Amino acid sequence: MALIVQKYGGTSVGSIEKIGKVADKVCALAKSGDQVVVAVSAMSGETNRLLALASEMSEKPHSRELDVIISTGEQVTIALLTMALLDRGCDARSYTGTQIKMLTDSTHGKARIREVQCEAMREDLDAGRVVVVAGFQGVDEHGRITTLGRGGSDTTAVAIAAALKADECQIYTDVDGVYTTDPRVEPKARKLDHITFEEMLEMASLGSKVLQIRSVEFAGKYNVPLRVLHSFEEGSGTLIALEDDKVEQALISGIAFNRDEAQLTMAGVPDQPGVASKILGPITNANIEIDMIVQNVGADGCTDFTFTVHRNDYEVAHELLKKTSVELGAKAVIGDDKIVKISLVGVGMRSHAGIANTMFQTLADENINIRMISTSEIKVSVVVDEKYLELGVRSLHEAFGLDSDGQLSSLAG
Ligand code: ASP
Ligand code: MG
Repeated sequence: MALIVQKYGGTSVGSIEKIGKVADKVCALAKSGDQVVVAVSAMSGETNRLLALASEMSEKPHSRELDVIISTGEQVTIALLTMALLDRGCDARSYTGTQIKMLTDSTHGKARIREVQCEAMREDLDAGRVVVVAGFQGVDEHGRITTLGRGGSDTTAVAIAAALKADECQIYTDVDGVYTTDPRVEPKARKLDHITFEEMLEMASLGSKVLQIRSVEFAGKYNVPLRVLHSFEEGSGTLIALEDDKVEQALISGIAFNRDEAQLTMAGVPDQPGVASKILGPITNANIEIDMIVQNVGADGCTDFTFTVHRNDYEVAHELLKKTSVELGAKAVIGDDKIVKISLVGVGMRSHAGIANTMFQTLADENINIRMISTSEIKVSVVVDEKYLELGVRSLHEAFGLDSDGQLSSLAG
């Protein structure tokens, strides 16, 4: 007998018919003898509809009350699914985040989970009942409703799985797993059978929107095996777990990319202590997130300083930088918001030299100029012109043998 936590996303519970199908699946699993907890999202489109209602009422809705309204979507789904289970002769009970309780801090709109109380769930499970929990929502110490941020139902499921020490947390969605890259850019992208938490974090933060990033962090921290699966198609999905020496690790697990980058350079800055902080201080104070940072080796007492930000923040960052450049007596501020970042991700890099060079050579062969490079233990990222995104991703996908039925074309041995 296993204890399984399942999560069904908005598209999987988007209609009465689909909720019925989910109930069939859950019922079958429960009847096979496994203990089952199900966390659900709001029916697809519902959270957006509630947000729109709120902004119709108020220009700047109070964050506390916003949580009260947007948490209702999930409450509808838990009731519908539980009714469907009961109709199928499967004993079940629904819980809101407050009933569980899913205790969080008081940061409305992006609350962090502090504790998951398990007593009620355990009692139900021991009595052979399926437990249906509203995703996305929690309650703070004052009894106020909170929400965990968009996509937060993933984190609800993982937190429950961690608290109950479940055997697996299964995330059911409208794709059949995690892919080597976005299939819309590279149709030869392949579904991965497994990927490590670390790799998934790199892939997720770089734009593959399969899972809320926080849920992967949580799963990694508490070592909860996570599996991404299609709700209505057969298949074993993608298992996200710790690195396993039994499974031979691929050199590269995937190629992530980010279209929404912009680059800013302050050229000819005096090469002195404190300059980096003077340049970036005003940017971070404006709550703009900085991604890559590169400072050149100084020459003639001057240096160039380059960093990237989200494209939406480009204009504001540019203005701030111009001000700072006057103060610092820099020569010029140069910017470009038509750039993208492409990253190779893989734990296999740890034990293989030459990965970065294969990447650079592959891009060179396509005449793609690299504008910035950054590396970590399991990732190499490059910034290139936006127009090269597709070509870059596809040529790297092939070079590293990621194409479906692909062969490693450039790394001998
Ligand atoms: N319903 C929420 C959202 O749309 C939470 C979730 O689906 O995970 O973001
Ligand atoms: Mg989601």
